[in-house]
Amino acid sequence: MEFEQNHIENFIEEIIVNDIQNGRIQEIKTRFPPEPNGYLHIGHAKSICLNFGLVDKFGGSTHLRFDDTNPSTEKEDYVQSIKKDIQWLGFQWEQEFYASDYFDTLFKLACHLIQEDLAYIDESSPEDIAISKGTPTSSGVASRYRNRPVAESIALFNDMKAGKIPEGAMVLRAKIDLNHPNMQMRDPIIYRIKFAHHHRTANQWCIYPMYDFAHGQSDAIETITHSICTLEFIPHRPVYDWFIEKLHLFPSKQYEFARLNLTYTIMSKRKLLFLVDNKYVNGWDDPRMPTISGLRNRGYTPASIRNFCHRIGIAKRDNIIEHSLLEFCVREDLNKIATRRMVVVHPLKLIITNFNDTVVWLDSSNNPEQPESGSRKLPFTKELWIEKDDFMENPPKKYFRLTPGQKVRLKSAFIIECTGYLKAEDGSIKEVYANYIPESQSGNDTSGINVKGTIHWVSIKHADAIELRLYNHLFTVADTSQIKDNMSHFINSRSLEIIPRAWAEPQLLNDKHVQHFQFIRHGYFFKNPEQPQNFYVFHKTVDLKDSWAPSKS
Ligand code: ATP
Ligand code: MG
Repeated sequence: MEFEQNHIENFIEEIIVNDIQNGRIQEIKTRFPPEPNGYLHIGHAKSICLNFGLVDKFGGSTHLRFDDTNPSTEKEDYVQSIKKDIQWLGFQWEQEFYASDYFDTLFKLACHLIQEDLAYIDESSPEDIAISKGTPTSSGVASRYRNRPVAESIALFNDMKAGKIPEGAMVLRAKIDLNHPNMQMRDPIIYRIKFAHHHRTANQWCIYPMYDFAHGQSDAIETITHSICTLEFIPHRPVYDWFIEKLHLFPSKQYEFARLNLTYTIMSKRKLLFLVDNKYVNGWDDPRMPTISGLRNRGYTPASIRNFCHRIGIAKRDNIIEHSLLEFCVREDLNKIATRRMVVVHPLKLIITNFNDTVVWLDSSNNPEQPESGSRKLPFTKELWIEKDDFMENPPKKYFRLTPGQKVRLKSAFIIECTGYLKAEDGSIKEVYANYIPESQSGNDTSGINVKGTIHWVSIKHADAIELRLYNHLFTVADTSQIKDNMSHFINSRSLEIIPRAWAEPQLLNDKHVQHFQFIRHGYFFKNPEQPQNFYVFHKTVDLKDSWAPSKS
């Protein structure tokens, strides 16, 4: 297979091309290996796009493997949500696997290690094991159980499996090297006792393999060629290779890339669970969450997330990506696909004094970026809602909206001239008066008048009430790596603002199958299709503009 050098986008692709060209492999096999202990987040999306993307590009297959070796935190609900999210992102796995399917095989492999005198049962306490491992600058000390006879270890391992040994009383350790400069190689624990109900194997097992023993072996069993994980697993690579070599398994290889970190949010399932459990958010799929399901409910599109993952690329060094880049990507997509509608959020009554009491239905484009999306009819009447701040009694210079004596265009309608206003007792503006210019109708303007401002509006008689939910960052700091166990201290108490009643043009609620909208001059909004009937909530996905701009290269 020949690959053009300039089509190679990152170091992993380079490795793959080399592997194929020098014959190490014929075809690639990757896997996405989530632990079903939470919902997927945008960091997982990066890994998904990478693992599935490589196969889309080079051929081969991608497995979905649930790394379900820790029964106390894993649930079937998480399995279902993970599958839904991967498919929603636009990817389909070749086959679905579970590490728990390999429990028998893994147990046999562990027995084989013991037989080969490459593993032993250690009865030391967890504290003693930790201390005896030494430090990166001093070597470890062998446990007094390290040289126990093979037969004894086999018998005890079987007793562990049979449930005869209490939790924490002993573990199985690989016999590697207590002087190894890499701490992970100092006789890692590979099996522990856990009396917990497993979401798939129920109570069949009371011993469970540790990550280091389950992961590489699962890769090898599935003949994964490129096992891609994040940088923190670099020290685990020698362990990964050691087991594969000693057990004579398929030579899967581990490669590491930089995990995704984003400003103003966190990317750890454990921390996200804290937000859910402590009700800082309304569940894993709250639109403020960096989860795939949260982003979906916020109005992100699969294309925008894939595009984001592609733009950030695959690097070997950790960094923090600006949240505004993610917003840029969704804005870019929504600009192309969102249906344009008018909604007034803070209403002020405008009376068109020279318009009689009829309705004129005006034509307005659904999406100027997409001419084939057609147009809808807007009712224009004598009494309209406009935004409060689109009128000023005493405006500053360069205020191009409504003020006495000034002209402005009503979007997709007419030019109007403000003739006066009425104040309420408290001094606030109660209503505003204007005359419209009949020959200035949008699309057919023969008035010859130029105005600098355009404002949106809705006909009061036709307006529908909707609720808006506006979101802000969940955290008050950009660099959330400083957040440890003091999370509540950094939570933004104003991450959700509810506008219980805004006024929408009538077509909005007729758009039963449309989900992505641009509310003109306000931003992009999403209608969650799962909301109850007759209760119209729109979630703000993103503002119309941001200062962030892609670098020109
Ligand atoms: P978390 O700390 O959020 O639970 P994890 O790594 O423990 O993350 P897993 O379910 O084990 O979560 O991850 C599945 C895959 O997704 C792994 O290959 C992991 O490396 C990758 N992954 C997890 N978080 C990120 C991230 N922030 N950026 C890129 N890849 C990630
Ligand atoms: Mg994990």
